Amino acid sequence: MSKIIISKENYHHNLGLLVKKAGSKDKIMVVIKDNAYGHGLEIMAKLAKDYGIKKAAVKTLQEALLVENLFDEVLILANHPPAEVVDSNISFAVHSLEFLQKFPKNSKIHLNIDTGMHRNGILMSQVQEALEYIEQNSLILKGVFTHFRSADDMNGELFWQQENWKKAKQEAKQKIEELNLNMPAFHSCNSAALLRSKDEIKDDFARCGIATYGYTHIDKNIDTFDLKPVLSLYASRLSSRVLKSQEKVGYGGVYEAKKDMIISTYDIGYGDGFFRYDGLGDLKIANGQKILGRVSMDSLCIKGDKQSICLFNDASELSLYFKTITYEILTKLMPWITREVV
Ligand SMILES: *Cc1c(COP(=O)(O)O)cnc(C)c1O
Repeated sequence: MSKIIISKENYHHNLGLLVKKAGSKDKIMVVIKDNAYGHGLEIMAKLAKDYGIKKAAVKTLQEALLVENLFDEVLILANHPPAEVVDSNISFAVHSLEFLQKFPKNSKIHLNIDTGMHRNGILMSQVQEALEYIEQNSLILKGVFTHFRSADDMNGELFWQQENWKKAKQEAKQKIEELNLNMPAFHSCNSAALLRSKDEIKDDFARCGIATYGYTHIDKNIDTFDLKPVLSLYASRLSSRVLKSQEKVGYGGVYEAKKDMIISTYDIGYGDGFFRYDGLGDLKIANGQKILGRVSMDSLCIKGDKQSICLFNDASELSLYFKTITYEILTKLMPWITREVV
């Protein structure tokens, strides 16, 4: 069977590095949305808890319900307002004033402020109105946050947005005091912004996803970091045969044997979330071998007859080859692939 191996040691190593940056374990919220970036939601939630992390962020209520008992707080980043109040340690990100008005009384919320990304969040000029609405409608303000658009990039944009955040935060704090609301947590950094911060962060915590899994897309001219990939993908052999000289394998027959060779087919394809290699370019799997011919929906072909083969233990090369980011290589891996922690 195909298999994903999760390295607990590497995950805890990455958490250690981030905790050191942030200042303490309490200053890290692990982002385990989208099935923990393809690693397996419940597996990664348990590993984070074992390490001493107390906060997590997920995508939906469905994900939150699976892990809520492992954390003090679970923040849902991309759910619509629920019809009834969710009475637990689950809180919801609020992305607009319109959205805010749909939450049932006593909902726990984190108010998202748009400080320049313009993807989600209330405008900085709407902070007062939002806080007054929260106070008048008995919503429970657990957090105020923002998200940076250019934390990976070699330019001044991160600093510009951090200045906006500083202003938004000051204004929100002042208004919260005036309204006599409990002071919420303030948070802004993703992995990249945390990794780039020179001093301990001023916020209450950072929301870290990709770096916990061992990757960063921060421009290498800015800095490099000792992160270790957590996930490896293994495929196992379905069948073997001799491909005779000049015979071709797979759809379109794009790979042709130069001489007689043993080939095997393995049980991972693009239907499992592995990118569809077209058999033409210079792509190598973990052991340096090439995939022979096109990747099929449920299988791919490699020279030899090994029982099991590691397709990748570092998503960076695949992401470069397919002109995407490691996030996408990882999150695409389907939940039905068996996950095993070592
Ligand atoms: C996904 C996400 C994160 C995590 O970002 P990484 O770059 O993976 O650390 C943080 N905050 C928000 C709002 C997100 O959507």
